[in-house]
Amino acid sequence: MKKYVYFFGRGKAEGKAEMKGLLGGKGANLAEMTNIGLPVPAGFSISTEVCTHFYANKKTYPRSLNAEVAAALKKVESAMGAKFGDPKNPLLVSVRSGARASMPGMMDTILNLGMNDTVAGGLIKKTGNNRFVYDSYRRFVQMYGDVVLGLKPVHKDEIDPFEVIIEERKKERGVHLDTELTADDMKDLVGLFKKAIKEKTGHDFPEDPLKQLWGAIGAVFGSWSNDRAIAYRKMYDIPEAWGTAVNIQSMVFGNMGESSGTGVAFTRNAASGDDMFYGEYLMNAQGEDVVAGTRTPLPISDLAEKNPVIYKQLDRIRHTLEKHYRDMMDVEFTIQEGKLYMLQCRVGKRTAFAAIKIAVDMVGEKLISDREALARIEPDQLNQLLRPVFDLKEKESAVKSGRLLAKGLNAGPGAATGRVVFNAPDAEAWKKRGELVILTRIETSPEDIKGMDAAEGILTARGGMTSHAALVARQMGKVCVAGCSSLEIDYATHTMTVKGKKIREGDWISLDGTTGEVIEGKVATRPSEVLRVLVDKSLDPKDAPVYQQYARIMQWADRYRRLKIRTNADQPDQALNAVAFGAEGIGLCRTEHMFFGEGKIGPMREMILADTVDDRKRALAKLLPLQRKDFEGIFEAMNGRPVTIRTIDPPLHEFVPHEEPAQRELARQMGSTYEKVHQRVESLHEFNPMLGFRGCRLGIIFPEITEMQSRAIFEAAANVQARGIAVEPEIMIPLVGNVKELANQEKIVRRVAGEVMKEKGTKFKYLVGTMIEIPRGALTADEIAGVAEFFSFGTNDLTQTTLGVSRDDAARFLIPYVEMEIYPKDPFEALDRIGVGELMKIAIAKGRSVRPDLKVGICGEHGGDPSSIEFCHQINQNYVSCSPFRVPIARLAAARAALADTSAGGTKKKAAGKKRLRKR
Ligand code: PEP
Ligand code: MG
Repeated sequence: MKKYVYFFGRGKAEGKAEMKGLLGGKGANLAEMTNIGLPVPAGFSISTEVCTHFYANKKTYPRSLNAEVAAALKKVESAMGAKFGDPKNPLLVSVRSGARASMPGMMDTILNLGMNDTVAGGLIKKTGNNRFVYDSYRRFVQMYGDVVLGLKPVHKDEIDPFEVIIEERKKERGVHLDTELTADDMKDLVGLFKKAIKEKTGHDFPEDPLKQLWGAIGAVFGSWSNDRAIAYRKMYDIPEAWGTAVNIQSMVFGNMGESSGTGVAFTRNAASGDDMFYGEYLMNAQGEDVVAGTRTPLPISDLAEKNPVIYKQLDRIRHTLEKHYRDMMDVEFTIQEGKLYMLQCRVGKRTAFAAIKIAVDMVGEKLISDREALARIEPDQLNQLLRPVFDLKEKESAVKSGRLLAKGLNAGPGAATGRVVFNAPDAEAWKKRGELVILTRIETSPEDIKGMDAAEGILTARGGMTSHAALVARQMGKVCVAGCSSLEIDYATHTMTVKGKKIREGDWISLDGTTGEVIEGKVATRPSEVLRVLVDKSLDPKDAPVYQQYARIMQWADRYRRLKIRTNADQPDQALNAVAFGAEGIGLCRTEHMFFGEGKIGPMREMILADTVDDRKRALAKLLPLQRKDFEGIFEAMNGRPVTIRTIDPPLHEFVPHEEPAQRELARQMGSTYEKVHQRVESLHEFNPMLGFRGCRLGIIFPEITEMQSRAIFEAAANVQARGIAVEPEIMIPLVGNVKELANQEKIVRRVAGEVMKEKGTKFKYLVGTMIEIPRGALTADEIAGVAEFFSFGTNDLTQTTLGVSRDDAARFLIPYVEMEIYPKDPFEALDRIGVGELMKIAIAKGRSVRPDLKVGICGEHGGDPSSIEFCHQINQNYVSCSPFRVPIARLAAARAALADTSAGGTKKKAAGKKRLRKR
């Protein structure tokens, strides 16, 4: 016969921690605590299978349940030396829910069950404590009335009828607190409560303890389907089929007088991770008093002074629990007349800082292995160590006082505070005067690069996770909130309106790039210790405990990961940051970003606006030495590591000025007329530039551009090599959909490489490869691999072209799309594995069928997203490339992917990996 009821008590339990599926988290841990000898009041759990049966069979129970409950109750009675319903020596119980995953406060609980008038009389005789007995009795009638008999208010504006009665009594007595009511008051309340129940339901309050028990069991199973529980399950992806268990446990009382009490605690500090007992307690109180906030609980450290015996016992239990569970635990306890009881334990929730510190400390304490530590730290939690963060209290109070202006996409994590400016030149000028600025734009373009660099943070009203603002900000390590559509920006008046408030140029705002929040005014920030050690070099690692934690995690991650980690960088300082964070190469150098550097935009514009090939060649000749210098800087910074350099990609109109004064200035510089320049700029206009004259199409129509860029790269490589620094250039052709496009460009690159080697009298190794970023490229990857020596997935464009969704215009509908669960996450942030991922798999299979050792990477923004990195590992890529500040996150994500993969020797079972896959 199937077993539905599991007893725990007297040091032995039928269940254990691993049985969470059957007994729920609470039941399984009560069993486990009993088994390891902790003082747990006896009880039993009714399994989640009964819940399933309950709902599958019109809210009825399996036939054998009655007998099983009766037998378990007998065992509890004998363990506790008390009897359910016996006035001479009564046993009272609690009835609580407990699902596999914790759903705090979502389902129902009933305490002090088993109480009636005769039991109360007997209890008074036994304890001599009228007040305690009637207080417990009135709490029971109230809870039972609310939960089982349905008197609990449904709407938030309704008031609990029992609370109304209590308030009336307090008013009559002229007191403010429940605790100021007398035993007689409590006794009266019981009568009044029962009367209210009769009036509302037409039935008497059940006096028979067994009837009470079955009523409570039904109510707790029923609460699995209340609105709150359903909403919570939806939010946290908890399957309805799991069901809840019901735990019935002997009551112990914290409200029996001054030698009794109750409390909650964490085995370590849940905010900082410090190895210290952390919690609160209240004497002469029941659990609900600690959470209700009517009395202020005391810190657990006070207990050490006030009751050293109990404190020592609790502290021993804290160590026992940590040793046993090998994690930080969250516990509830009660002291009944000087005796300690444990009522609950579960793995404690913690901040990102605490999660990291606890994981690292526990490896040091040999409680867990380095692999387990890696599995416990979410890669994105590392952001907390790398970025400046807001002072939490300040931010909370800012939000509470109504200063939260808007929420956009959390495009560049970290905290920034500064004064609003509305264009890039102002950002530069203000920064020069020593101001902190937040560059606020409808959207950014390559022209804004220097202003972005000058700003503490970037805020845009339009654009998604791969918009220009978002990806450049991440590459620069800037805080960025993008696509904040509730901002109405008016460039003409240098103001923006949001939520009816007008924000003017120079006003202070704060950006939380980790959450996407925009806050009015200043909020204090704290700098990152890791950056001060690795990047500014202003802090000695010895004096940087947080840095030390970071370094350990990275060391362990590198031990297990298979994927190489590269970075997307196009400036030597970005490259150096990335190397400091552990980058093993550059996976994408967007050469067009370089054209906005000092002195380059002029010749670039001349090149674009040139009328003849000769004019274009003249302008390119001016650009050549400038680009060569850029590449030398990059090769030097990367010091022998591979560097993938992409030929020019964006549509040319992005490089030319669109305002009349700037066009006049350009005409003057070029010795041309405003009309001519204006007309040429207009001719570059495209209806759909992202699908227009860009990518390899530029180099094919204007081969002299590819020629100049190749020459700059190879001359730089030869020069740097001549200085004794190894170089490994990899030339990458963008937006290839047809092998002939690649072959056309490859021919130019190889010819120029040969020429430069000859001219310089030297030899260097180099590769020519392509981006796979449009579906035709993926589908014809076998043809393309005949020419390409490597593939790099440009998943920004591949997502855009596969989904038919413009990456720059998507925020408006993608946010609602995700809310409506059309996509589980923004597909420009987390790879759409089913669609885009399928094309990637096809491309790899086809590519390697022709060139088995084909090197495959990714350089779209997904290369820094942990779930996408896991996918890249699974489909056997060689590397991922991400912005410098995401390199540590990628290292950890790659290690976790490897550990989740049994074939790579990880500890986790395949099923665990699969589960995560399904969840995302
Ligand atoms: C891409 O498309 O994924 C990519 C890396 O190129 P870009 O973002 O510059 O178009
Ligand atoms: Mg692209």
